[in-house]
Amino acid sequence: MMINWYPGHMFKTKKALLAQVKLVDVVLEIRDARIPLSSKNPDIEEICKNKPRIVLFNKKDLADVEKTEEILKKLPWPEGVYYCLVESKATGGLKEVWNIIEKVYGQYKEKWSGKGLRPRPLRGMVVGIPNVGKSTIINRLLKRSVKTGAKPGVTRGVQWIKLSDKLELMDTPGVLWPKLGDMEVGLKLGATGSISDEVLPVIEVANWLLKILCTYRKPEFFNRFNLNGSENLNEIYEKIGRRRGLFLRGEEIDYQKVALVILKEFRQGLLGKYTLD
Ligand code: GDP
Repeated sequence: MMINWYPGHMFKTKKALLAQVKLVDVVLEIRDARIPLSSKNPDIEEICKNKPRIVLFNKKDLADVEKTEEILKKLPWPEGVYYCLVESKATGGLKEVWNIIEKVYGQYKEKWSGKGLRPRPLRGMVVGIPNVGKSTIINRLLKRSVKTGAKPGVTRGVQWIKLSDKLELMDTPGVLWPKLGDMEVGLKLGATGSISDEVLPVIEVANWLLKILCTYRKPEFFNRFNLNGSENLNEIYEKIGRRRGLFLRGEEIDYQKVALVILKEFRQGLLGKYTLD
């Protein structure tokens, strides 16, 4: 089984992205808290060069936060690279990001004043692989700044939105390409929704996910599908299919539809909170 999900146009975006990153002072890199490693773009260090970068592990509400934090603590975090776990859908879910922005702003201000330059708002840009919540985060940052009155401005064809005296944001996010060629990473990206279901072998991904769900044995999973925990994969499909009326014809279970239900409800957090890395 090979997941052929990598859209060719993403190759072309690298050049454009490199040019855009040159215009900013700080990069807000978004990843998925459920797959903190697998949702990393393989070229992010090269793209950001030595720019300050804030890595936002989004969808904290769906992740096993303890496990994610354990993973993050073990990673090297070089100077100028900050991280935090966020839930961009929640009001106030980005509070910590603003604190880090203050910190980065302070560093720039010091640098500027050393050169006799007047302080100005930092220029930032949001980047990340598909579906990690880039648009949601931009909207959430905007909402918070409505009080101060977000103002659009244009420089060299790029739209900037002034969010505060300390931050201007590029209005469109940079879409990064995910890791290629690693089956396990592909399955994780598929399960969490970073790869569109149309190109995803949904049954394979659901089977892989079910094995994990059966290992973790969280009550949310068993209760949701009325399972007793002793079923094998086939029996799980049968039970879900019957309860939800997902038949092909007659009494034949529609495996594809059952797989989609499993993936959809997993992504909504209805089967419990998981970190898959
Ligand atoms: P983008 O493709 O990176 O711009 O991602 P979007 O902003 O379109 O978000 C993708 C999906 O994730 C949408 O259905 C969002 O509602 C959802 N989403 C974004 N942030 C969060 C979050 O913090 N928690 C949860 N549960 N869902 C989120």
